[in-house]
Amino acid sequence: MSETGRAALFFGPGKDMTITEFPVPDPEPGAMVVRVTRANICGSDLHIWRGDGWLGAMAREDGRIIGHEMTGVIHSMGDGVVTDWAGQPLAEGDRVVYQYFAPCGKCRSCLRGMTEACSTSFKVLQGKPSVFPHFRGAYADYFYVTPQMAVFKVPDQVTDTMVAGVNCALAQVVMGLDRVNVTMGDTVVIQGAGGLGLYATAVAKERGAEKVIVIDALADRLELARLMGADEIIDMSEVTSMNDRLTRVKELTGGWGADVVCELVGRAAAISEGLPMLGLGGRYLEIGTFYPGSSLELDPGLLVMKNIRIEAVAAYDANSLQQAVCFLDRHVHDLPLDQVVVDYPLEAINDAFADQDAGKVTRASLVMT
Ligand SMILES: [Zn+2]
Ligand SMILES: [Zn+2]
Repeated sequence: MSETGRAALFFGPGKDMTITEFPVPDPEPGAMVVRVTRANICGSDLHIWRGDGWLGAMAREDGRIIGHEMTGVIHSMGDGVVTDWAGQPLAEGDRVVYQYFAPCGKCRSCLRGMTEACSTSFKVLQGKPSVFPHFRGAYADYFYVTPQMAVFKVPDQVTDTMVAGVNCALAQVVMGLDRVNVTMGDTVVIQGAGGLGLYATAVAKERGAEKVIVIDALADRLELARLMGADEIIDMSEVTSMNDRLTRVKELTGGWGADVVCELVGRAAAISEGLPMLGLGGRYLEIGTFYPGSSLELDPGLLVMKNIRIEAVAAYDANSLQQAVCFLDRHVHDLPLDQVVVDYPLEAINDAFADQDAGKVTRASLVMT
């Protein structure tokens, strides 16, 4: 009998996931099979699990393997796989990170160099789990890395807990801050000190931001934001009115307003609050509210009068993933990058989701052994 691996199948919001075995695929030329070592539950996985917005439609009767934030070791390589995307030699057993989506390289976006806006890159996640290559999501013993997915070797000193979030939040933030071109001397407001916001704080400082102001309501997150390099924090549990927070941002930016504001909360209301924090010529980065279905009131005249630019970023390109890995390698010793995670075995995936949803744990992590 051929080798098999476990996968947790998701059937829809409110339904228990069940563990099923599938055959471990043989990789096609250019592809590889990774043995997943660790897969985190990200905020977007929770949205899918709850069926928020249009995400309820992601459920399949025959199940789906969800999860995307992960790392692992190479189990097998298809013909022609010799190096990672940075030219480093690869061998079975090497620790790697990779895109979980597959930019086609041929659509209008890809041809114009915007692989993060590929029209088909997420299709790879949608196939039936019973059909080759079976392993299309993180909550499983294996993950099938297609030839289109960028792969990078993980430096030895970067631990699995540091790197598991790199193919989601960190690469996303690297791409986003590049898009709004955070640069030397900028004042930057980070709305939300979750995974995205904490990484954004550190990346903005490294890009030369003069002052990074982080807004959140939770004391422990704000403390972490300080350790990640925040110059100022605004505690929403103390500064409870939106107007007072706006006034505080104005004070902290010499009366001008911020050069860049980043929405990393995941609520449309944060955008209504964040846009007025921008000064003339400011840039707004939208990443947090990633699924359609919400709305906000907006005064377009204010945007025009102030020459505001808005950038929204979903996914990321291969370069951003590589830069994210390099960023971790540079900051292993001076930033608290080892995410605080609570480990669960794959069999306990339903408890892991329930516990993270109830706020009992900040970040649950499935460990495959
Ligand atoms: Zn494409
Ligand atoms: Zn994620």
